[in-house]
Amino acid sequence: MSMIDKIYKQVEERNPGEKEFHQAVKEVLESVEPVLDKHPEFVSAKILDRIVEPERQIMFRVPWMDDNGEVHVNRGFRVQFNSAIGPYKGGLRFHPSVYLGIIKFLGFEQIFKNALTGLAMGGGKGGSDFDPKGKSDAEVMRFCHSFMNELYRYIGPDTDVPAGDIGVGAREIGYMFGQYRKVVNRFEGVFTGKGPEWGGSLGRPEATGYGLVYFTQEMLKDDGKDLKGKTVTISGSGNVAQFALDKCLQLGAKVVTLSDSSGTIYDPEGIDRDKFEYVMELKNIRRGRIEEYAEEYGVEYVDRGVPWVYECDIALPCATQNEIDGKDAQTLVDNGVTAVGEGANMPSTPEAMDIFLESGILFGPAKAANAGGVSVSGLEMAQNSQRVPWSFEEVDSKLQNIMKNIYAATSQQAKKYGKEKNFVLGANVAGFMKVAKAMLDQGLI
Ligand code: NDP
Repeated sequence: MSMIDKIYKQVEERNPGEKEFHQAVKEVLESVEPVLDKHPEFVSAKILDRIVEPERQIMFRVPWMDDNGEVHVNRGFRVQFNSAIGPYKGGLRFHPSVYLGIIKFLGFEQIFKNALTGLAMGGGKGGSDFDPKGKSDAEVMRFCHSFMNELYRYIGPDTDVPAGDIGVGAREIGYMFGQYRKVVNRFEGVFTGKGPEWGGSLGRPEATGYGLVYFTQEMLKDDGKDLKGKTVTISGSGNVAQFALDKCLQLGAKVVTLSDSSGTIYDPEGIDRDKFEYVMELKNIRRGRIEEYAEEYGVEYVDRGVPWVYECDIALPCATQNEIDGKDAQTLVDNGVTAVGEGANMPSTPEAMDIFLESGILFGPAKAANAGGVSVSGLEMAQNSQRVPWSFEEVDSKLQNIMKNIYAATSQQAKKYGKEKNFVLGANVAGFMKVAKAMLDQGLI
């Protein structure tokens, strides 16, 4: 049995039932295998055995009361995976599907993604199985306060800096930051994605979606292509999907789909600026369902449907993990897709990823393609430390630079290991090298 297989088997045995975590580990182990031949020092220091084990994982009870006076108990998580290159950094996800395996997969991915940004951030992730959908603002506030009554002990601007993710946006971050500030009696940059009036960076809401499109544009440019005039399918209709759509519009592409966990809309005319404003209001203010878009504009809505059945040049999955399976990937390729950029974390199953890589299309993996969000989070931390806010233009131009650099590092590593255009390998190796070297330098920690 190879060393990689042995480590993977141990991960499965030690973390039973955590299938998303196993999937994320397997992908990284397979990518970095060729690195080990060139770097025997990583093998003797058992970097891989250490990197797959979180430095610390915290689970806690979150009791809260609904508007009818009924008591509920949810579970809170924070996995502090690796701090070799900086304080733990990664979002909080509130979704009923959350359990330790999801948080560990996300925390593990975050290590390499954060390393790719070139900023000093380690990897972590957290969240809860709480479902904010259908809850009143008062219920969400009570939950967030209760969550923070425990989490505050483990975080801090130089220790661990959470942010948003699925189900955690500006409202939730506000409630959590408020409670943190009250219990520690300090105003400090402990969260990113804060409101611009209280320490948040301009450009952070846009960063993941914009960054995804910048990265996709880099892949296309390198291949002699351009986004302008292209037809794009996007899944999801939350933060990442909204700003991916916004940037596609700015760059002259036509976006024809959006979705949520209930279904998909297909608008062959394209979602224009006015329709985009409607989506922003529908999703962020009214917190409604995407089905209402179909009613408003008289277009197709498919209950439980996915965007991958529609013809497109570029697909940007921006909803959740494993949302593109092998069948969807084959349909996309058969329909002539030329590029896929992952806005969500691990949206393609391993079968889907194999199909994309074998077909020779441009495939931008999440670690690289969606790193814009955490990059601007890193810039928010820098502004908080300086106590000086930067303009939107300054942040956006830094983001563009970071995404260019991530693409360059990713494609360079892919070439170096003889797999030109395999950006999965490229991103995993580029992120891994930086963290592995830091771990080696710091000894057996
Ligand atoms: P939001 O909560 O704002 O939006 C999530 C969207 O995806 C919603 O439309 C939601 O629909 C849909 N969705 C969620 N779960 C499922 C599911 N199980 N099946 C189908 N659709 C689903 O989250 P974000 O936009 O912030 O995050 C989207 C993805 O991007 C996640 O994978 C996240 O980890 C990743 N990401 C986010 C970053 C950020 O800065 N926000 C940074 C990097 C990655 P519904 O409303 O019905 O639940």
